[in-house]
Amino acid sequence: MNNTGKAPQRIKVTNARILTPYRIIPHGTILITGKTITEISERDIDVPDALELDAGGAYVSPGFIDLHVHGGGGHDFMDGSEEAFLRIAELHAQYGTTAMVPTTLTSTRQELFNTLEIYEKANAKNTAGARFLGMHLEGPYFAMSQRGAQDPRYIRDPDPDEYQEVLARSSSVTRWSAAPELKGALKFGQFLRSKGVLAAVAHTDAVYEEVLAAVENGYSLATHLYSAMSGVTRRNSFRYAGVVESAYLLDQMDVELIADGVHLPAPLLKLAYKIKGAERTALITDAMRAAGMPPGNSILGSLHNGTEVIVEDGVAKMPDRQAFAGSVATADRLVRTMINLADIPLLDTIRMISSTPARIMGVADRKGVLAPGKDADLVFFDADISIQLTMVEGRIVYQRENIPVF
Ligand SMILES: [Zn+2]
Repeated sequence: MNNTGKAPQRIKVTNARILTPYRIIPHGTILITGKTITEISERDIDVPDALELDAGGAYVSPGFIDLHVHGGGGHDFMDGSEEAFLRIAELHAQYGTTAMVPTTLTSTRQELFNTLEIYEKANAKNTAGARFLGMHLEGPYFAMSQRGAQDPRYIRDPDPDEYQEVLARSSSVTRWSAAPELKGALKFGQFLRSKGVLAAVAHTDAVYEEVLAAVENGYSLATHLYSAMSGVTRRNSFRYAGVVESAYLLDQMDVELIADGVHLPAPLLKLAYKIKGAERTALITDAMRAAGMPPGNSILGSLHNGTEVIVEDGVAKMPDRQAFAGSVATADRLVRTMINLADIPLLDTIRMISSTPARIMGVADRKGVLAPGKDADLVFFDADISIQLTMVEGRIVYQRENIPVF
């Protein structure tokens, strides 16, 4: 594809089963001008100068948006290289992701600052992969009892000097996960809200009253629902609702699900969908570096400072096989899991990985829906959710070999 004249290139996608994702248009046409969708039609439209891209009856949906991802293709965002960022963005684009929120693991302060600096450089060069929507800091303000695979050496209470310095040095942080029951965590939530940063509850042993206070003080999302968080507990015979029940009870809370089909069994995927619905549920990979790689040994976290893990049965496990150490999912697998394992309808599944995460991340004005004026972030796939083509802002970043283009 060459940009010859001065007018922006126009692409006409024809013969598409468009998932807007609020409805299906069976034989639709999408006109793209430069980076933007300019028209969606239920029939073919005559645009003489447009390059025609025949979808061949494939589904065409908004590109997948992954709110929580650590790596893929053998790389982790904590590896300390621009190369890692760019390769991860390309790897996940092959599986339909067009926008992602690179996520850190709990680390030293220096490693965090280093990662944020690398993010900015990599972001400026990222033209061949899924777009970055700012960084998600997963930690270090977590409950030690719910740390999961997070390194206990770096877990601590919210430190105002530290978090203020982080946001003063970097404007790239768009999401931060913390345990709201910790000392200083409500002030931290207020601070994040004042800076426009999405605050999420994670790795937490909070009870309902603490989650309610968290929501009043800026927190709005439950990070990987069920994983590393409290459910119902009993103290001196009295029962308390945990974070899971609180996220269900508080309508204004969003939840994210690691829908790899391993972390959460079908009944829990169904329950979350039944209670929170497609509008409040986002599907995430939470993938570590082994996503898109063959099974075997791998490393969770940075190459020089991470933990050895085993990848088998479609998931990363700690060496003793007693706990998961991260997912190896790609976005297409999340969609397949929700449809095939949890019996969720196709359109609602697509909403949970496009329009809902776009709204949660504050980018719904340009992403998450196929409509005129939105970014041309498109993914083509067949009935098995096998990805055929991925387009990011009008540019084809992936196409399966046997799918002819133009
Ligand atoms: Zn994570």
